Amino acid sequence: MGMYDTLHLTCPHCHKHTEFQSKASKCDLIDYTIYDAPLTILADAQSEELYCDNCRKKFVLRVQYMVHEDIAINVGEDNEN
Ligand SMILES: [Zn+2]
Repeated sequence: MGMYDTLHLTCPHCHKHTEFQSKASKCDLIDYTIYDAPLTILADAQSEELYCDNCRKKFVLRVQYMVHEDIAINVGEDNEN
């Protein structure tokens, strides 16, 4: 039973720590950074107006979805020698 999860961010204005509370995911009081947060929380933060807890300035989080990343995997002989 949680209430929200917390996304920890660095303010682009003052470069101090700030945070965004999201109810979009499990709401288990989990702490995330932008590098390990579920996409649901990142998308939630992107859709909100974000304000720094320190300098009170507004900033945005932009999420780019890289949909067409191709991964090529090849198993071959070792011809180095
Ligand atoms: Zn700030």
